[in-house]
Amino acid sequence: MTLSSAIDAIRAHAARATPGTVLTGLIGAGIGPSLSPPLHETEARRLGVELVYARFDLDELGVPATAVGPLLAAGRDAGFRGLNITHPCKQVVLEHLDELSPDAAALAAVNTVVFENGRAIGHNTDWSGFARGLRTGLPEAELESVVLLGAGGAGAAVAHGLLTAGAGHVRVFDLDTGRAAELAAALADRFGSGRAAAGAGLGAAVEGRGSAGSDAGTPVGGQFGSGRASAGPGSEAGMGGRAGEGCGAAGSDPEKGVGGRGSVGPGFEGRGSADIEAAVGGRLGTGRASAGTDLAAAMRAADGLVHATPTGMAAHPGLPVPAGLLRPDLWVAEVVYRPLETDLVRAARAVGARVLDGGRMAVFQAAEAFRLFTGSEPDAARMLRHFAVLTGTASLERQPADVLD
Ligand code: NAD
Repeated sequence: MTLSSAIDAIRAHAARATPGTVLTGLIGAGIGPSLSPPLHETEARRLGVELVYARFDLDELGVPATAVGPLLAAGRDAGFRGLNITHPCKQVVLEHLDELSPDAAALAAVNTVVFENGRAIGHNTDWSGFARGLRTGLPEAELESVVLLGAGGAGAAVAHGLLTAGAGHVRVFDLDTGRAAELAAALADRFGSGRAAAGAGLGAAVEGRGSAGSDAGTPVGGQFGSGRASAGPGSEAGMGGRAGEGCGAAGSDPEKGVGGRGSVGPGFEGRGSADIEAAVGGRLGTGRASAGTDLAAAMRAADGLVHATPTGMAAHPGLPVPAGLLRPDLWVAEVVYRPLETDLVRAARAVGARVLDGGRMAVFQAAEAFRLFTGSEPDAARMLRHFAVLTGTASLERQPADVLD
């Protein structure tokens, strides 16, 4: 398809809508499975708002990320109220906007565009979605010292959310050490020099991969395979075993938070992180156990870990950090939400850590975008319940009637 037929698709969509309908949608690549259309449309219906949420998938339309500008202009001219913007357009879109909210300007990334009097105004609801998810999903999380893994778009939003929420210090790690350093410097500029720094890299955690004997080899793009999640005798059972209760997006009340801690996997009870690390070292070789000394040291000192790399998605399975660095008194916030239960979520629950999955961020960023598009306050708790149904983490039968249609 050419750019002009992609633009025609947007116009045709608008032409089909009944007058008064709030026209919205999503522009991005590979967005077929996105849950934004049902989340927005169902919530609108519950509020009595006529709203259509369309997908404009760059892959299906056969146009590159740079098409976001003309597509946005077509949407504005066709009467769209606004559009969500996702990978790979969150930065590319900046040059096509007339105005940015202060937070979007600080982040230099936009995931929501609202048209007002012919002007395109960019917002970022990823950071506020994460912050609200953390506040409501892990309400007692200590924020003095946080390790952030991943300095891409999601990492930048999460870091902004953490520091805005009052985190004392965020240490940023990324396979791309330059990217981590850049993000940390930008954060230090905005929030104060003592509040963000880059880790010295993942070091041996990366180099050691695939070179420490047959058990250690996971030469996939830098992840620790899920089989590596064990950290001492019996921990495999813990990994596959019970998950923490009440975690994540299925909670019926977003203000109540995550219900409880996951169960401690057999073999972890009473063991400190040094024990676990030693156990890992025993099995995998000391080069692996001390993998990424700086990461290991930072995690030992941290209250919480936020994971914001694609590791754990179907295309990038495995753990982003050695399981031996997880411990019961750490909280772990995952950003990946497809799937909701990543290897990291499972491993963290298995050691008894408090866990927040990626669902709350996904729902709260959508709720905030909904408010910007419609001017109506969505019922975030209802959207969370709906999300739980859509992702199969709650059964239809157990939901109140308002999320069944
Ligand atoms: P991105 O490509 O912009 O950034 C990813 C970063 O992770 C890169 O800097 C890369 O170098 C780094 N990285 C990759 N593998 C790594 C590893 N093993 N160790 C250390 N660093 C590693 O991607 P993004 O837009 O930031 O998205 C990241 C993830 O966040 C995706 O899975 C995306 O779906 C998810 N996400 C979730 C939400 C939500 O609402 N829950 C919102 C946005 C993004």
